[in-house]
Amino acid sequence: MIHNTRVAFDRDHYLQKAEKDPAFDVIIIGGGATGLGAALDAASRGFKTLLLEQADFAKGTSSRSTKLIHGGVRYLAQGDIKLVYEALFERGLLLKNAPHLVSMQPFVIPNYTWWGEFLYGIGLKIYDWMAWRYRFPKTSLLQRKTVSDLLPNLERQGLKGGVLYYDGQFDDARLAINIAQTCASQGGLLINYMKVVGLIKDDRGKVCGVNARDLEKKKDYTFYANGVVNATGVFVDEVLQMNSPSEKALVRPSQGVHIVLDNSFLEGDNALMIPSTEDGRVLFAVPWHHHLLVGTTDTPLDHQSLEPVALKEEVAFILKTLRQYLVKKPEEKDVLSVFAGLRPLAAQGNKAGKTKEISRSHKLLTSESGLITITGGKWTTYRKMAEDTIDEVIKVAGLKQVPCATASLKIHGYSENRTHYGHLEIYGSDASGVRALAGERPELNQILHPAFPHIKAEVVWAVHREMARTVEDVLARRLRILFLNARAAMDMAPEVARLMASELGFDHHWQQRQVKNFLLIAERYLLQVSNKPAIAEVTQSLP
Ligand SMILES: Cc1cc2nc3c(=O)[nH]c(=O)nc-3n(C[C@H](O)[C@H](O)[C@H](O)COP(=O)(O)OP(=O)(O)OC[C@H]3O[C@@H](n4cnc5c(N)ncnc54)[C@H](O)[C@@H]3O)c2cc1C
Repeated sequence: MIHNTRVAFDRDHYLQKAEKDPAFDVIIIGGGATGLGAALDAASRGFKTLLLEQADFAKGTSSRSTKLIHGGVRYLAQGDIKLVYEALFERGLLLKNAPHLVSMQPFVIPNYTWWGEFLYGIGLKIYDWMAWRYRFPKTSLLQRKTVSDLLPNLERQGLKGGVLYYDGQFDDARLAINIAQTCASQGGLLINYMKVVGLIKDDRGKVCGVNARDLEKKKDYTFYANGVVNATGVFVDEVLQMNSPSEKALVRPSQGVHIVLDNSFLEGDNALMIPSTEDGRVLFAVPWHHHLLVGTTDTPLDHQSLEPVALKEEVAFILKTLRQYLVKKPEEKDVLSVFAGLRPLAAQGNKAGKTKEISRSHKLLTSESGLITITGGKWTTYRKMAEDTIDEVIKVAGLKQVPCATASLKIHGYSENRTHYGHLEIYGSDASGVRALAGERPELNQILHPAFPHIKAEVVWAVHREMARTVEDVLARRLRILFLNARAAMDMAPEVARLMASELGFDHHWQQRQVKNFLLIAERYLLQVSNKPAIAEVTQSLP
């Protein structure tokens, strides 16, 4: 156990509280960026708030992004000024409120044509200017030699010059858990592995609660609320169907794939931005946790899954594009991890056309029953999406008018000091707690794997302070190893299971089951088996 006095973030405690007093002002369905943001907004306005997530927090799209807090240079090129302006403002707020997780990342756009430099240079100057008082360091035009200095492994043949600009970078799943903790500190209750299976309506046909199933203990619950929010990402249509079978489909999933390589393929701290690939996409190669994250693709799908599978052709496309730009050419064997995420693009009945042309801005829909659905948008704008959602809940559910309080609310872990704790700096103000735990119990000061600096104390911390319930929760979304190096994560699984079982009081059968389930999921992150249909049905590791 952890013996210090900070408030725990404890599933059993929240479940007991919700069971004892099941009436809320607001219930949020879905614990990704959108739902967590809405729950934080509601709780921080003083509303009695409950969030229910069917898997782990950020198990869906919100752990599978490109990890950029950005206005979206591409949307500027498409003339979506409002979206870019809003996102740049939110970028500034996030850097201010979560500096332990969000940082300024330099990006270099290499130009192999003379006009490219002019075009991107002008566009990015406008981008700088639109950030207004939350401006990042200035965009600059670069000589050919400076581009090569900043990106030592860039292909030099035909290189004319380049542009240097700055945007935000973050750890998506860690931000999700820190938002959840902030919500809890504002009085909100959050329960993972609790799936909403039905909506309750009063005799006027208005939604007044949900039926939910605890996937851990296989027990059913009913919770009541004045306002119910559907923030289930690519699953919003399932909840809309619970509301009324005649609801029109709102979302069209679009898959985006990333690969992770050793950082030596690019080298250094600067990111590479390829503004127009062969088929007109943007591709980023960004240093992330001492690895190189490269993506993404945009493949329309007609079904959704909690564990989508990267297609071979998507990976081939990313590798082929990278090989055109880098001196050290990556091959399939160099891919350490591959992961896919589904964009909940708001299609509004438009199923035709290319997905990248469907708007990235968010959509808020209020059904006749009073169910409020929020979808689309970006991680970057989660706070604004939440503000709009809770403003709507206040109107629809007749709650007290309380202004939004999140623009200046510090996110759990807030710390300006990022230098003293090595890889633990991602925990922000919690880093001292993790280190103290390793000090109190020296056996927890051991590393989990020779290729990573992570120590056993982090597993114990994840269990007691971050509501990790499964080996997958720890390795995928608390420590991020599965996203960085799938093979290393598989190696760590037995020890993580052992540590968790001993902290949670589970037996060796639980350990074995956990390791088996984790390995089935982790195989999907290994390139060579990522298309195997045999494992397609294993989408989450239940506790
Ligand atoms: C490839 C890719 C790259 C991206 N890159 C960026 C980026 O760099 N920057 C950026 O700003 N944005 C980016 N985005 C967009 C961003 O990641 C998404 O907009 C955001 O994560 C969506 O969050 P969400 O909460 O709406 O959905 P999700 O994260 O999918 O959350 C929905 C949650 O609802 C839960 N749920 C579903 N049904 C139920 C139920 N019945 N009961 C309880 N829970 C339920 C799910 O388990 C899930 O956890 C990217 C998206 C993709 C796909």
